[in-house]
Amino acid sequence: MFNVNKEKCIGCSQCVKDCPVSDISLVDNKAEINNERCFKCGHCIAICPVEAVSTDDYNMEEVIPYDKAKFTVDAENLLNFIKFRRSVRRFKNKEVEKEKIEKIVTEIYRGTKVNFEKKAKTQIAQIVKNGWDKLPICMAKTQYSFSDNPNALGAPENFEITIREVVPKFGAGFIVALTGDVMTMPGLPKRPAALNMDVAADGTAIGLF
Ligand code: SF4
Ligand code: SF4
Repeated sequence: MFNVNKEKCIGCSQCVKDCPVSDISLVDNKAEINNERCFKCGHCIAICPVEAVSTDDYNMEEVIPYDKAKFTVDAENLLNFIKFRRSVRRFKNKEVEKEKIEKIVTEIYRGTKVNFEKKAKTQIAQIVKNGWDKLPICMAKTQYSFSDNPNALGAPENFEITIREVVPKFGAGFIVALTGDVMTMPGLPKRPAALNMDVAADGTAIGLF
């Protein structure tokens, strides 16, 4: 849960503007976090100028304020770094997923059209409904071509791209659009190697390579 200390809050609305899923509102000039769509990005903590926002997901007292002069990312303070060193982004409440994807395909890849499969359309509708459509888009695509066809090597023109799925990745803070037959990490084979591993009666591990 993310919470606002009403006594500290000065109603500047910075957190309201920065929340990527619009889960914060100002009520009587104080911020209120609904904790409904929140995916714990921590932006509201990072942006608040009076340290009014906190979370009970970890001990806030262990979080050392960021000091550029002293701060290094070593093993001891890596966790603190992850908790505290949040970027601050400004999202414009304008574009929805389909428009963003079409812009990438036509203006960057030089394709002519984007075809959205039924599953992708349903997922986009859900994303917009949940207010996640302000997140940036990450295109998952073959590395061999600007199109979604690995055989059309390099930078072909006048091609169409098919989006088969659109999946939110909240940890990373973006929406992944899966094109063509691309496989994303970890890219397990059809039969995972773990299925061939076992321990023999004498305690010897088998199936390792
Ligand atoms: S943690 Fe992120 S998603 Fe949750 S309320 Fe704060 S800014 Fe919004
Ligand atoms: S950023 Fe901090 S002070 Fe400003 S509205 Fe949000 S909680 Fe209140």
